[in-house]
Amino acid sequence: SVVVVGSFNVDHVWRCDSLPAPGATIIGRYSTGPGGKGFNQAVAAARSGAATTFLCALGEDAGGAMARALAGEDGFQLTAEGSDQPTGSGGIYVDAHGRNTIVIGPGANAALSVDFIQQQRAAIGAAAVLLAQLESPVETIEAALISAREAGVLTVLNAAPANAPSTIGVLKHANILTPNETEFAALLARHVGERIEADDVATLDGGSLHALCRKLLPDGTVVVTLGAVGVYVSHADDALRGDSQAYYRIAAEQVQTVDTTGAGDAFNGALAAALADNPAAAFAQHVRFANRYAALSTELPGAAQSMPRAADVAARFGG
Ligand code: ADP
Repeated sequence: SVVVVGSFNVDHVWRCDSLPAPGATIIGRYSTGPGGKGFNQAVAAARSGAATTFLCALGEDAGGAMARALAGEDGFQLTAEGSDQPTGSGGIYVDAHGRNTIVIGPGANAALSVDFIQQQRAAIGAAAVLLAQLESPVETIEAALISAREAGVLTVLNAAPANAPSTIGVLKHANILTPNETEFAALLARHVGERIEADDVATLDGGSLHALCRKLLPDGTVVVTLGAVGVYVSHADDALRGDSQAYYRIAAEQVQTVDTTGAGDAFNGALAAALADNPAAAFAQHVRFANRYAALSTELPGAAQSMPRAADVAARFGG
């Protein structure tokens, strides 16, 4: 099974012709739905076929009720720390070109506590894989990773968003680190003093990327997601590598992309589910599944709503 620790937001989206300038009042088409990296990844893990538990913090409000109802619909366990803060929220403006401006109100997500994680030790210890992001307090995520590692649970850290205050402390407890290009560049700048442009990551040769990954996470596996280019994987010389090469790329699947929002969340949830389902399989096989799953998620608009099911992946790409 998979335990996901992270954020839930109610997203409020306005689609406008152009983004509002300071002082302006404009009209947009409104929609609302669930979001938050933690929740999106829990949905992806569950729809990938893993028995999934989502640990989060919710307010006593309509947003909190929405999270519980949607988890029930998707058949995963949601265990929430109650908060006197409002449930997390996001205000998103999208213009006619697809450019966006986003404000996040972390609310209850910012109050997810170390104490609550300690109380959930049994649930964490019973899982095969723990998956976390950095939209929650970094000390809470570090506690969750430590709790998992102590119980021999495999840890996957999606170090997102790129501007999150990561620490070497939290990184070193990850067996697998899964940044996108922007997050990878940010982590390299912050933690190992390597300055590279996010746009250049996909074009670096495999050996150079491998050296950077080894500096960032000497004992773990780094999986850099490269959007429409695919995925890059760098292993330490450890058990996870199995019969996989030390480093390799997997090309993105060709699909009819309409909206890449949540592609990274799809990838992470699917990777965690695949690892939990068959820990003995070659790592590259899990990455291939996640790469296919994330590609399919871009064919529908939205994040959590657009997550496919394992059967959709099999139907499209074969078992
Ligand atoms: P994020 O959403 O965090 O920015 P990426 O953009 O790197 O993450 O996307 C994550 C993964 O989703 C990619 O590694 C790839 O597997 C898949 N993906 C993203 N965009 C596309 C696309 N246009 N076509 C096919 N697969 C895609």
